[in-house]
Amino acid sequence: MIPLVHHPDYVAPAPARSTYQWNKNGLIRDLLQEEGGLIDWHRPDPVPLPWLEAVHDPDYVAEVLEARVPREKERRLGFPVTAEVARRARMVPGGTYLAARLALSNRFAANSAGGSHHALADTGAGFCVFNDLAIAAVQLEAEGIRTLIVDCDVHQGDGTAALTAGRTGIATYSIHAAKNFPVRKARSTLDVPLPDETGDDVYLDTLQATLAPLLDEFAPDLILYQAGVDPFGGDRLGRLSLTQHGLDRREALIATLAMSRGLPLASTVGGGYGPDALEIARRHVRAILVLGRTFSALRGPDRKA
Ligand SMILES: [Zn+2]
Repeated sequence: MIPLVHHPDYVAPAPARSTYQWNKNGLIRDLLQEEGGLIDWHRPDPVPLPWLEAVHDPDYVAEVLEARVPREKERRLGFPVTAEVARRARMVPGGTYLAARLALSNRFAANSAGGSHHALADTGAGFCVFNDLAIAAVQLEAEGIRTLIVDCDVHQGDGTAALTAGRTGIATYSIHAAKNFPVRKARSTLDVPLPDETGDDVYLDTLQATLAPLLDEFAPDLILYQAGVDPFGGDRLGRLSLTQHGLDRREALIATLAMSRGLPLASTVGGGYGPDALEIARRHVRAILVLGRTFSALRGPDRKA
């Protein structure tokens, strides 16, 4: 079975003036329900306030939770912050933390939302309200767990890099399209910028050649994996020209790199854009299933779950 974190609050109604695909999380849930007994469902708690404030400015946290985010920050974020959006924003990091905890005992777990890697200390950005990856990793660090955040979204994980910089228990890896949002990049522990139309083979070779040494050098206790599907060639914001088969190979490679080192891995979703929300949701679900199945296959038949 695949431990999967979901909460009804993930499926927030779309606020007015929003182009973000709010129904993506509901579709991901529906598609995973079709997998029946393969999925082991878990429900997170909203993240405690001190965990939010350990990463984000308390003033910005209050603006979000009280649904009074200034208009210029909402523009940068990409949608208005309503009470429902605020509730969702507090639940999703709780889900990423729970997925991490489940991974530590089950080797793999997935959050069906999250990957909000552009959120910064005092503002959201690029559809990201709170940075669930940084919030979870900072809390895990306080609990003595070293985390490597592996970000394979087509956009750089700038917020995550900025929010975790200087922390000895956290390292960040981002492989992304060089000529892409955000214009001003942050500095991850390791950044791997790629040219447009890189394609499957070069992408996967580069991923393996750059990530494997970092895994060995940093020696984390856990990988937090942002499995954005926007490097896909058909994605509205994708530039790296990966095929669906290339994305499948990417998930299998990530799982194999982790498993071969005995490293647990928790995944989140990430970017994925286009006119057909169901197609995007299918791509996210496929990533979760390939990760889960690769972990199960490598684990061998003698262990349950
Ligand atoms: Zn993205």
